[in-house]
Amino acid sequence: MSEPVKAVATNFIRNIINEDLKHGKNGGRVHTRFPPEPNGYLHIGHAKAICLNFGIARDYQGLCNLRFDDTNPAKESEEFSRAIEEDLRWLGFEWHNTPYHASDYFEQLYKFAEELIEKGLAYVDEQDADAMRASRGTLTEPGTDSPYRDRPVAENLDLFRRMRAGEFEDGSMVLRARIDMASSNLNMRDPVIYRIRRQHHIRTKDAWVIYPMYDFTHGISDALEGITHSLCTLEFEDHRPLYNWFLDNITIDCHPQQIEFARLSLAYTITSKRKLSQLVTEGLVSGWDDPRMPTLTGIRRRGFTPRAIRRFCDLIGVTKKNTVTDMSILEDCVRQDLDAHAPRAMAVLDPVKVVIENYPEGKVEMLEAPRHPKTDLGTRELPMTREIYIDRADFRESANKKFKRMVLEGEVRLRNGYVIKCLQAIKDDEGNITELRCSYDPETLGVNPEGRKVRGVIHWVSASHSLPAQVRLYDRLFKESNPGSLSDFHEAINPESLRILDNCRVEASLGEVQPEQQFQFEREGYFCADRHDCKPGHLVFNRSVSLRDSWAKLDQGA
Ligand code: ATP
Ligand code: MG
Repeated sequence: MSEPVKAVATNFIRNIINEDLKHGKNGGRVHTRFPPEPNGYLHIGHAKAICLNFGIARDYQGLCNLRFDDTNPAKESEEFSRAIEEDLRWLGFEWHNTPYHASDYFEQLYKFAEELIEKGLAYVDEQDADAMRASRGTLTEPGTDSPYRDRPVAENLDLFRRMRAGEFEDGSMVLRARIDMASSNLNMRDPVIYRIRRQHHIRTKDAWVIYPMYDFTHGISDALEGITHSLCTLEFEDHRPLYNWFLDNITIDCHPQQIEFARLSLAYTITSKRKLSQLVTEGLVSGWDDPRMPTLTGIRRRGFTPRAIRRFCDLIGVTKKNTVTDMSILEDCVRQDLDAHAPRAMAVLDPVKVVIENYPEGKVEMLEAPRHPKTDLGTRELPMTREIYIDRADFRESANKKFKRMVLEGEVRLRNGYVIKCLQAIKDDEGNITELRCSYDPETLGVNPEGRKVRGVIHWVSASHSLPAQVRLYDRLFKESNPGSLSDFHEAINPESLRILDNCRVEASLGEVQPEQQFQFEREGYFCADRHDCKPGHLVFNRSVSLRDSWAKLDQGA
């Protein structure tokens, strides 16, 4: 782990564990797991489950497994598994042992299914899908028994073995648990536990033509790994009786406790893997790691830090109440982290040239500036030259006193440099400013001029020494706060979620920048060097967050 363990606020799950430990349950062991399905990339919602499971293991000197829930071969891939491992490590967590796979248990799961059959607790059903659906009943109506429900044990065993041997067509029959078709809990109405599916599996290849269902697989995998607390999201609450039923009815000496918590829903984004995958395949984003994506790989590329994400997960806490969390809370965590740790630099995003008439031609003065205002990160050199760039938005020919930047005849301070005064604005035929002519006061380095008022401080870079850069400004991918609830999320896509600025200039000290290095571009926001595209001689920076939360202001109608 990259940081010392910090006290984390307690929550109802930690309270349960504290009680368990007090009573010596599980022999004092705490063992959790994180069970992603390798059918997509991890997203910010997963970060909540990761911080919870790995955080508990860390704080109780326990263990946390990474288990790939790979029972649905159609959608799973090795690319996704590798990416999940990389994202987990990036977030700062290391799993116990090597990753586990539900598919490692296929043989054991099969044996447990036979055990259920032998106990008269499972049967092979040949009803077609429609008949099964019709006989399931509704929330208010009990289901009806399948005509195959009372098949003799020997016949069930024989059919199940032949299902495994590949004698039957896909979908022609299933193995069902024999529980209670009249249960008020629909999950207990003889759920399917095996289906026939001729699918190549990334790990077991073509060894199996029957695959176990999630509910059957999950609890048994937990028990086989000695998990003590199986933490999952609230939609599995109704599955808990089934989780327990399977473990109570097979011969296994571990019975983990399933505890449900509310999933994370973030406003202005989606966290459904299916929909995220749609954004990728339809080319609406550049990939799973597009910086607008709520995937961990996306927000990493955007410049969000593992520390900020862990802090966010601590802040939002763990409860049993479903709520929607505002994106600005996550962005604030990023902002605070970067404010504390990111070195400062100057970048001019929309440059206009300034010629300082009384500054000698060819002269280069190396001004020194701290890399960070509070932490000692050393200093950097800012070459001061006769020609510099400032941002177009920092000049107006005339403006009232509230405009704390440059106006004609007005004085401003160059950040970490001299006070300059604007003498003239040169324009092209269309009236666009092409150059500003200024003078500087050589007595003002680190000292305020006497008896004159300087309007404000603006950032700048040397025209000859600065480096060209591309800057990508990201905004939210969706205009609607709950795009996932719309019948078609395409309508909610924000057409202005990416703006590319190609003519930016950054200070010379950024020439050696490493991918993913982060900065506060003074007065502009927090930026990071793009981890794929930024190279020496081709600088590309992504805006991670603005300096202040402009959305909160919008929400308040300001
Ligand atoms: P899908 O979108 O495919 O339904 P899932 O959310 O079930 O995905 P998994 O890969 O099965 O994805 O998730 C792994 C673990 O992460 C599960 O234990 C799940 O409960 C947890 N998890 C997933 N999404 C969230 C979320 N938004 N908030 C908290 N935990 C989550
Ligand atoms: Mg799942």
